[in-house]
Amino acid sequence: MSSSTIVVNDNIVAYLLDHIRAESHTARALREATATMPAAVMQISPLQGAFMAWMVHQFNVRNAIEVGTFTGYSALCVAEALPAEGKLIACDVSEEWTDIAQDYWRRAGVESKIDLQLRPAIETLDELLANNRASTFDFAFIDADKPNYDGYYERCLQLLRVGGVVAVDNVLWSGQVANELSQDSSTRAIRQLNDKIKSDDRVSAVMLPVGDGLTLATKL
Ligand code: CA
Repeated sequence: MSSSTIVVNDNIVAYLLDHIRAESHTARALREATATMPAAVMQISPLQGAFMAWMVHQFNVRNAIEVGTFTGYSALCVAEALPAEGKLIACDVSEEWTDIAQDYWRRAGVESKIDLQLRPAIETLDELLANNRASTFDFAFIDADKPNYDGYYERCLQLLRVGGVVAVDNVLWSGQVANELSQDSSTRAIRQLNDKIKSDDRVSAVMLPVGDGLTLATKL
C-alpha cells in the first residue's frame, strides 16, 4: 500500500525541531526532567507542544481546558501562548505529577493562568456545565485515561463555543487502533470515539499523524 505521509525518522525529527520556534527554557527543563521518569511516554513531544501553542494563537484562545495534565508540559506550552487574561483549567488526579507541574508553572510565571483541578475530570467538566460554562471555551485538549475518552469528548463539546476546537491525543494509539487483534479497553475506546467523530455532524474534524495521532474537531 502506498502512503503519502512521510515516515519521520530521527534525522527528520531533528530537522523539524531545528525549524520550529524553540520551546522556552522552563518548558525544556520540564520536558527533560520528565523524560527521566518511567511514565515519560505520557508527555507530548516538543513538536506537539509547538503545535499546541500555534493553535492557541491561531484560534485566539482565551479559555481552555486540558483533560490529563501529567507533569504539566502541554499545559505550560498552552499557558505561555495564552494572553495575560487567558485561563486554562487543567484536570488531573495525580498529586505527585501535578506537584511537579505546579513547580515549573511557577518558574515560568504562568501559574496565575492555570486553574488546576485535582479530581476526576468528569466531575470538573460536569461542574463547569452546572455552572453555566457551556459554550464558553475556545479550546480543549483531551489526553487522559482512554476508557473515559467519550465522556470527556461529549462534555468538552458542550463546553466549547461554536468555532471552538477540541484536540484529542493518542488517536492512533501506537497503531493499535488498526490492529484487530488489539481488543483491550483503551484501544476499543479510542476506536469507538474515532468512528463516532468521523460521522459526527456536530463537528468538522480531521485526524492527523502528529505524535501518536491527533484529532482536531471544530464545533459547528
Ligand atoms: Ca498523550
